[in-house]
Amino acid sequence: MFVDQVKIYVKGGDGGNGMVAFRREKYVPKGGPAGGDGGKGADVVFEVDEGLRTLMDFRYQRHFKAPRGENGMSKNQHGKNAPEMVVKVPPGTVVMDANTKEVIADLTEHGQRAVIAKGGRGGRGNTRFATPSNPAPEICEKGEPGQEREVILELKLLADVGLVGFPSVGKSTLLSVVSAAKPKIAEYHFTTLVPNLGMVETEDGRSFVMADLPGLIEGAHQGVGLGHQFLRHIERTRVIVHVIDMAAMEGRDPYEDYVTINQELKEYNLRLTERPQIIVANKMDMPGAEENLATFKEKVGNDVPIFPISALTRQGLRDLLFAIADKLEETPEFPLHEEETGVHRVVYKHEQPKPEFTITRDSDGSFVLSGEKIEKLFKMTDFSRDESVRRFARQMRAMGVDEALRQKGAQDGDTVRLLDYEFEFIE
Ligand code: GDP
Ligand code: MG
Repeated sequence: MFVDQVKIYVKGGDGGNGMVAFRREKYVPKGGPAGGDGGKGADVVFEVDEGLRTLMDFRYQRHFKAPRGENGMSKNQHGKNAPEMVVKVPPGTVVMDANTKEVIADLTEHGQRAVIAKGGRGGRGNTRFATPSNPAPEICEKGEPGQEREVILELKLLADVGLVGFPSVGKSTLLSVVSAAKPKIAEYHFTTLVPNLGMVETEDGRSFVMADLPGLIEGAHQGVGLGHQFLRHIERTRVIVHVIDMAAMEGRDPYEDYVTINQELKEYNLRLTERPQIIVANKMDMPGAEENLATFKEKVGNDVPIFPISALTRQGLRDLLFAIADKLEETPEFPLHEEETGVHRVVYKHEQPKPEFTITRDSDGSFVLSGEKIEKLFKMTDFSRDESVRRFARQMRAMGVDEALRQKGAQDGDTVRLLDYEFEFIE
């Protein structure tokens, strides 16, 4: 099984901050609270785009940080929510959490979507904290931080383009000079059957998977249990690139070669001859190649496109790759078997509840608080206002932090650290 794999970082947008504001009324120094809420941060959403074939784009961009929500404003105006950030992935992409290796989403069908990192909610403005006993609170929340994680994208590669041709015509050479990346080859039971396979990118940013077709077919004939996977490969192989040695060494006749190979393709009974074929006239750097090409053209006629190249000197590759990519775009698959019965779905694994906080000891004797919930609370606190800080202290007490610190031996005056904040433990 060939897999393309890439690790990327995603972060949902932080929520916008809430605001502390008061109404301005004539003769009233402080009217009622009027600070609006912050807007929601953007979610990072993955969406399947059937036009994509590989994970090549992720080699250039590995960080996806969604925009934050707008801050709340005075006069009770709420900040705007940030529009979601959509990241396109090819069909067949499995998304895993890089740390837990848990599957977050299995994205198979065009248009299918999954939220991979949630945006944070907006912080509340002071209006929301008004109570009869505290009608003019100076409290607001900062926006909730967006979810942040590293994920692994994995894509099982299927060949889009199959190379055919006699031995030694230059198939392997061609594949090696147009391949941008060698996909990772996962444990494969039939190592000797591994077909030559590479990912190709055109200059205008399209990408596809190219494979040595005889290698694939050979594999199918020998491999027990390889059948289904093999058929998927062949079905997906929508364009055939027929490589011909125009140098015609050792008394070969390019046209005869061409006819012989096409005959073989027919005999496989895999609908291979129904696929559009692009002819590659290789080894054009050799003497005699031009004359041979002219003769060849006369014999095949004008209905099949011919691309003269030299895989060795890398001439003519650019136009060839464009032509292949264009053909792929207009050619559907060639089904060989009954519809797949697999259910397509997005899997959302239930995430384990995490402890609200943990306490460790630093070498200098201070107590260190950490944990997702308490850190989030911290980040949402506006430390520039006493009232907000007091609220934070109350929230920590309610979570049982004080009690837990006491049990760990914290005494009056000890230092407690939380992210970049230090405070004294007071009995
Ligand atoms: P395959 O059997 O079809 O995979 O052919 P290979 O890629 O292994 O190539 C066979 C031989 O042809 C090698 O010695 C290559 O260096 C040579 N070859 C491939 N492409 C070219 C080309 O464009 N020009 C010349 N002169 N030799 C080539
Ligand atoms: Mg070869």
